[in-house]
Amino acid sequence: MNNPFNNKVIAHRGAWKKAGLPRNSIEALKAAIALGCAGSETDVHITADGALVINHDSVWAGLQIHENTLQELQKTKLFNGEVLPLLTDFLKIIQQQSKTRLVLEIKPSKKEKDWIKTIAQKVINAVNQMQVQPLIIYISFDYEILKEVLRLEPSANVQYLNGDKTPALLKQDGIKGADYHYSVFKNNIEWIQSAKENNIDLNAWTVNKEKEMNWLLVKGFNFITTDEPELLFKEIEKYFTSGRK
Ligand code: MG
Repeated sequence: MNNPFNNKVIAHRGAWKKAGLPRNSIEALKAAIALGCAGSETDVHITADGALVINHDSVWAGLQIHENTLQELQKTKLFNGEVLPLLTDFLKIIQQQSKTRLVLEIKPSKKEKDWIKTIAQKVINAVNQMQVQPLIIYISFDYEILKEVLRLEPSANVQYLNGDKTPALLKQDGIKGADYHYSVFKNNIEWIQSAKENNIDLNAWTVNKEKEMNWLLVKGFNFITTDEPELLFKEIEKYFTSGRK
């Protein structure tokens, strides 16, 4: 499955779908690495007692993550029997290899006034402690989170998700990538060229159909984020062997 051409595959919440694994599980992260993905996307929240846990929604098993302790949250397991993972569990796995990056989405929390500073600092500390900084791409819908990450770690690779800023503005603010819903690029087609001129990485989510995958390949995107990494590998191989490159 490892494509020798140009690996752009970001597994959205790990490679969970085809394998029937829980999204954002350790097993799904391992599956994305086994596939040879360029990256595995995941989501991090902060608990009431300051732990960094992996989950997409702000609620786990009916409990608001930022209002509950790690111990309370971990009473409910993922459907494959895993305990709700910590960011450090994911970083340990990422540390054991050098090919698949962790595309780490920092999720908002409404618990405290300074939550942006708190979560950004904790995430950066965890990453630095494990010495995996080159393998991390930070993403967020919240521009202020990304700016805080950059303030703490100026060399960090950060990509913005919300689709409302031009590549020129991202460049000005030190943001390294436009990781937008693919419809944003269709509606702002000139941003693709502008991103290339400004050396802003192009990434699109969440792309699960061949037609959209091919459109992004033709446009020369750096990354494509998908729930169907196996399918995307096949489309990339077809694209790069068809003489269209
Ligand atoms: Mg996410």
